Amino acid sequence: MLDKMSMKKIEHIGIAVKDLKASNILFEKLLGRQSYKEEEVKSEGVKTSFFKTGPNKIELLEATSVDSPIAKFLEKKGEGVHHIAFAVDDIVAEIARLKEEGFIVLNEKPKKGADNKLVAFLHPKTTNGVLFELCQEIPTAED
Ligand code: ZN
Repeated sequence: MLDKMSMKKIEHIGIAVKDLKASNILFEKLLGRQSYKEEEVKSEGVKTSFFKTGPNKIELLEATSVDSPIAKFLEKKGEGVHHIAFAVDDIVAEIARLKEEGFIVLNEKPKKGADNKLVAFLHPKTTNGVLFELCQEIPTAED
């Protein structure tokens, strides 16, 4: 049985791209729909664009500065899948649980990410080379 404190589902898949404008056009053709949101996250040095595909989302990420994590990723690995994001109900509790399990959490204090989320990342060296993002929806005034 799944604990309440666990990862609920894949929320989105993050893809690092060199040119967000060009990739937006490519993904519009590919997915047959338009991006529903573009957003810059200054603190992370990224510009993002989101696509919905059924219950899932794709996040395109372009670096806006040379020291952005995306710029470093592109330099090392080139364009491609950058991270997999999992939705959680309680990100603080989930970070504590994963730390206790021996995973390295890159930011132990959740930070504000794109698309109205609190986010935290796990170091890929403890997760078979995959960058995991945890994300919790920030309640909005209408909720
Ligand atoms: Zn993401």
